[in-house]
Amino acid sequence: MLRRMRIHQHFIDGAFTPGSSSETIPVINPATGQTLALAPDGTAEDVDRALAAAHRAQPAWGKLPPIERANALRAIAAKIREHAAELARTIVEEQGKILPLAEVEVSFTADYMDYMAEWARRIEGEIITSDRPGENIFLFRQPVGVVGGILPWNFPFFLIARKLAPALVCGNTIVLKPSEETPLNAFRFFELLAETGLPAGVASLVSGYGRTVGAALSGSDKIGLISFTGSVETGARIMTAAAPNITKVNLELGGKAPAIVLADADLDLAVEAVKSSRIINAGQVCNCAERVYVEEKVADAFTEKLTAAMEASKFGDPFAQGMDYGPLINEAGFTKVESLVASARAQGGEVTTGGARADIDSGFFYEPTVIANCRHDMDIIRNEIFGPVAPVVKVADLDEAIALANDSDYGLTSSIYTRDINVAMRAANEIRFGETYINRENFEAMQGFHAGVRKSGIGGADGKHGLYEYTQTHVVYLNSMS
Ligand code: NAD
Repeated sequence: MLRRMRIHQHFIDGAFTPGSSSETIPVINPATGQTLALAPDGTAEDVDRALAAAHRAQPAWGKLPPIERANALRAIAAKIREHAAELARTIVEEQGKILPLAEVEVSFTADYMDYMAEWARRIEGEIITSDRPGENIFLFRQPVGVVGGILPWNFPFFLIARKLAPALVCGNTIVLKPSEETPLNAFRFFELLAETGLPAGVASLVSGYGRTVGAALSGSDKIGLISFTGSVETGARIMTAAAPNITKVNLELGGKAPAIVLADADLDLAVEAVKSSRIINAGQVCNCAERVYVEEKVADAFTEKLTAAMEASKFGDPFAQGMDYGPLINEAGFTKVESLVASARAQGGEVTTGGARADIDSGFFYEPTVIANCRHDMDIIRNEIFGPVAPVVKVADLDEAIALANDSDYGLTSSIYTRDINVAMRAANEIRFGETYINRENFEAMQGFHAGVRKSGIGGADGKHGLYEYTQTHVVYLNSMS
């Protein structure tokens, strides 16, 4: 007998509710091609309803002592931990990352909620001396009001927390739109959030496509901030939509992270870090190493070791034990990887391992791939790959490596492998990226600051600086008369 497909609903004003349209979006398992459930194909009207609820809720929420808002985040964190196993399975089913990585995503998300809750007692203003007698100048950090949050599919569950937790602890309310590829974890998150008794309207979820729900949210004059994570192209569209209302934007966009491997590096460490960075989440991570610049003297040895390491990587069913990575998210992602590898071949790159769609019946699986003899002007070095493919470019020295690394539209993440601390520091000072990892894999800490320069974004996330993105500075001049 056919199992009836579950049809999900938006979460608006504290309750699950049908949208104004009965159209739905199928949610596909990228490992099997099967439809898992149906998500509502939301409309601008649904966004308006969620924003109206967020506006009604914000004044009271913003006036609560921050510690009470922090307690709400801690309650959500506890719910996440209680349901961790089930949440991880949902992420694997709709996104395709391997189960251990989904488990890390879930526990990191709960920890992130707790971390942002800790800021409740630490949000600080300033008192500044005045040029006038008897006057004090105060700087207060106020909420921006209602935040619109638009999410990608690659770390769909964590990205909910990265936007919701700082927004809420600072006194804002939020309306989130999940990626149409991966909304199921978000529906489950909001079921758990509802069980914590969060006041109605403080957080809502409107499911749908970017061109409808995303456009309505970013173009609304009812939001104080649009916080977006996704591609550069969509980021530009969001800025355009936000421009007429002069809405503040926070954009976490794509990356093309260079990894620089110098002749004195611990090659095994560099190989392991670059390999992990290329295969984690099947290479679909904004900050993972997307192009490798290796000093000529060690380039062949490095490439040989990287080829062997990538070749040994296991991919397949993301639920199976011992897998390193699962499928790519969808046909479009798959085609992009295939065409970049084809162009690399045509432009003189030498595929030392992989380079093809995997021989698996269903799903979007791509072989772990290394491409040697790449040149800086090749498409595969200029464009985000978002797949398990490592292109390697030989460089004469650090100066050339830095010049090539900086010559990119993207500026999110970078990494440097060397045993010489002076060289590492010089490179860190000269490389123009939001993040630089020295002798370690690319993966940020929640207390750091995740941000990109050039087309990789505006503003950032995490830590104190990420938190304050969700505030507006208000200055008060107090003239004491006597
Ligand atoms: P995407 O830009 O295609 O979609 C992201 C979200 O934007 C989705 O929810 C989508 O529905 C929505 N959207 C699409 N068109 C829109 C529009 N016109 N108006 C408003 N919203 C719209 O990105 P993706 O494929 O989901 O994610 C992959 C990209 O995200 C990669 O480029 C990756 O590097 C980037 N990313 C960046 C970070 C970071 O922190 N910098 C983190 C994760 C992913």
